[in-house]
Amino acid sequence: MPDSSPDQTRPSVLSGMRPTGRLHLGNYMGALFNWVRLQNLRTEGGQPQYECFFFVADLHALTTDYADPTALRQNIRDVALDFLAAGLDPERSTVFIQSHVPQHAELHTLFSMFTPLGWLERVPSYKDQQEQLKEKDLNTYGFLGYPLLQSADILLYQPDFVPVGQDQVAHVELTREVARRFNQLYGPKPVTTERKVAVASSDKEKLAALENEPRTQPRTQARTQAGILPEPRVLLTPNPKLPGLDGRKMSKSYGNTIMLSEPEADLRAKLKTMVTDPARVRRTDPGNPEVCPVGDLHKVFSTEETRADVWQGCTTAGIGCIECKGWLADSIIREIAPIQERRRTLEADPERLDAILWDGSARARLRALQTLQHVRQAMGLE
Ligand code: SF4
Repeated sequence: MPDSSPDQTRPSVLSGMRPTGRLHLGNYMGALFNWVRLQNLRTEGGQPQYECFFFVADLHALTTDYADPTALRQNIRDVALDFLAAGLDPERSTVFIQSHVPQHAELHTLFSMFTPLGWLERVPSYKDQQEQLKEKDLNTYGFLGYPLLQSADILLYQPDFVPVGQDQVAHVELTREVARRFNQLYGPKPVTTERKVAVASSDKEKLAALENEPRTQPRTQARTQAGILPEPRVLLTPNPKLPGLDGRKMSKSYGNTIMLSEPEADLRAKLKTMVTDPARVRRTDPGNPEVCPVGDLHKVFSTEETRADVWQGCTTAGIGCIECKGWLADSIIREIAPIQERRRTLEADPERLDAILWDGSARARLRALQTLQHVRQAMGLE
């Protein structure tokens, strides 16, 4: 196992995922694939580019599914298995379970003392999700506060970057606002000569630039200074369009998913039912992969050569949709077969999974304790 002391010399990234059960291809391509890429990036000198933290956000699952947690324990394990099978490496990344680091809950409570209600009420997903999940009573304190719990999740580790898709940018912005408010209320203002000059000359542009300036000394000073929570920055990640079997966004709630662990026979059978270009009614009609959900999946999973064959065959009616879907199945299976193999190996050794998560959570607690100590001092608790 790697050294458990926090690495304060390279920039860090942190992200998490709610455990809703086994992951589907949309979860994989929308987040996990990119996490593995970030974990494996190397500097010119061959060193890991980022210190990585990835977690299963089990407390978040309770914000919507509090009334029936019967599946939660298994869902947590399923997501952790998919993380590791997809290539997150506990030797390179800290992989952990959110609730195994109790400091998430404590920091959330402390943040709740100074976060205006209006900030939470205006988060776009608050109203959207209440609309979408009408069958659940989401008029709860936990649901309103989940973006603040997310802020605590992030700021606890003081990451330099949070890799997210465009739809999550608002949540990171809230986190930045929370950090700013905390620093205003409790933090000493860092005064540099540059800042003094900018303040004295009322140079707003310079002051703004100083706020946003990339940190070449990632966090070392900030982490040792009580009362300062550095604002993380968004690392916008590619979020390819991944339609489900019915052409809508792939999502469990639509029942249109292909799972990362989908057996080959089921995957092929499911793809046969997938909607296609509606204008291609007969086999002899030419189609257009640009408006076909199967074409969208080819863009993500197929090689350039296969894509060229699909575009040529479809637009000239040279191939049928069944053949095209068979090629797509081959491409997806090529991508996920090694993942499924690793998953089977891990599933056969549950004690190993426990040990990995125990170790990851222990390392995460070390970092979390550092931050929380400074926060507690700043807020007068120590
Ligand atoms: S041939 Fe392929 S891309 Fe063209 S309409 Fe059929 S499924 Fe879609």
